[in-house]
Amino acid sequence: CGVFGVWAPERDVARITYFALRALQHRGQESAGIAVGDGRSVLVRKDLGLVTQVFSDADLTAMSGKVACGHCRYGTAGARGWEAAQPHLSTINDVIIALAHNGTLVNFDVLRRELIEMGIPFRSNTDSEVAAKLIGYFTQRSGRLRTGIAHTMRMLEGGYAMVLVRENALYAFRDPHGIRPLVLGHLGDDGWVVASETCALDIAGAKFVREIEPGEIIRVSDDGLRSERGCQLGCRAECIFEHVYFSRPDSMKDGSSFYLMRNNMGRRLAQETPVEADLVISVPDSGTPAAEGFAQELGIPFGTGLIKNRYVARTFIQPTQELRQMGVRLKLNALPDVVRGKRLVMVDDSIVRGTTSRQIVRMLKEAGATEVHVRSASPMVAWPCFYGIDTGSQDQLIAAKMTLEEIRAHIEADSVGFLSIEGLLACVPGGDAHGYCKACFTGEYPVEIPRSYWGDRFL
Ligand code: 5GP
Ligand code: SF4
Ligand code: MG
Repeated sequence: CGVFGVWAPERDVARITYFALRALQHRGQESAGIAVGDGRSVLVRKDLGLVTQVFSDADLTAMSGKVACGHCRYGTAGARGWEAAQPHLSTINDVIIALAHNGTLVNFDVLRRELIEMGIPFRSNTDSEVAAKLIGYFTQRSGRLRTGIAHTMRMLEGGYAMVLVRENALYAFRDPHGIRPLVLGHLGDDGWVVASETCALDIAGAKFVREIEPGEIIRVSDDGLRSERGCQLGCRAECIFEHVYFSRPDSMKDGSSFYLMRNNMGRRLAQETPVEADLVISVPDSGTPAAEGFAQELGIPFGTGLIKNRYVARTFIQPTQELRQMGVRLKLNALPDVVRGKRLVMVDDSIVRGTTSRQIVRMLKEAGATEVHVRSASPMVAWPCFYGIDTGSQDQLIAAKMTLEEIRAHIEADSVGFLSIEGLLACVPGGDAHGYCKACFTGEYPVEIPRSYWGDRFL
């Protein structure tokens, strides 16, 4: 998911949030929502669909205020209907809050059951609503929202980056391992913004200040910006899949663009799995930075072998396998004039289920390619993610079920190669010592997964 928040009493906070959500649209296309605090109350508007489908100009004009937060949803496990759209509104006595959450909470079902036993009602079965209701509960007991948030953070397990508004203040906080990202920016003289990625700061006209620290709570109000520690710091485990795939290439992290990191992954992949070929092509758009690096490293020309339909959303995010397959055909088509008679290397950022690769290899061969060598700029994804990226259960992950040779045969490629885990770590800021979650590649989970939550997700 994408989350955003802005405190700027002199500005059009709803429109700033709207444009920021459009910049974060790649992080989730299922639903979009904005909450505005106008000093007296909080108003939420949300619906299923893309940001541009949910908000009209008139809607935004009707939402004036001094503080806002927004969300675009990438549905992981849980409900898919309107009730699952965010921000979640929660009313506790006279305190009204709206919460936007990126991530997944692995212990939410236990917490939800306890809250229900205490008579607290739920509209959805999402983890995010559990967080909103917990914050409400502890705020009511302590009389202070900051205390309510800190208490809640101590109970939540999993990955989360959250942005919350009440009528006159903005709050932002991040899980103690820093699994999901959240950055802070300055907007003019008296404005502040928080966002999942820096590309949203750029569009809002905000300057990057720093990341929200793992376990930190930020509060912005008429009293200015304050920071406090919400919970004990865990060992740092930032999601490395943000670097591989999820973040936009022009977003920055630890002093580098994701573009540059992916370009280096492609170079490294070429060193690890070189091949003789006439042309390197990418699976656009996510594979392009790595494909460029692969071609540069081996001195092979880089060309456009696949044309992408710009009006189709990310295929991976489609809920069923059938839709996903149709999605690939709708999204990508081969260019016979470029690939005919050539030995190709086809570079993608990742191979997860194998849906994309298998279909594209066929398309390229039908278009006249003589050889197709498939390369993945990330290591084999063999373990499910429980912290907010929907890579699916293990039985859907091609690398969990097949050997390298079986994968090659399945996707009908002439050869296949994956970046090593050491190779990936050499291409991200700070290397392994920085502290990354890489559980989907290694199976080493930084936050323990309760057995009740496994379901059928392991083979
Ligand atoms: P596959 O088709 O092998 O299941 O998935 C790999 C393709 O899906 C790549 O082109 C990658 O860019 C894309 N993709 C889209 N969303 C995601 C996601 O959330 N996780 C992963 N791993 N890949 C994704
Ligand atoms: Fe990111 Fe993978 Fe860890 Fe999930 S398991 S948080 S996708 S690195
Ligand atoms: Mg892709």
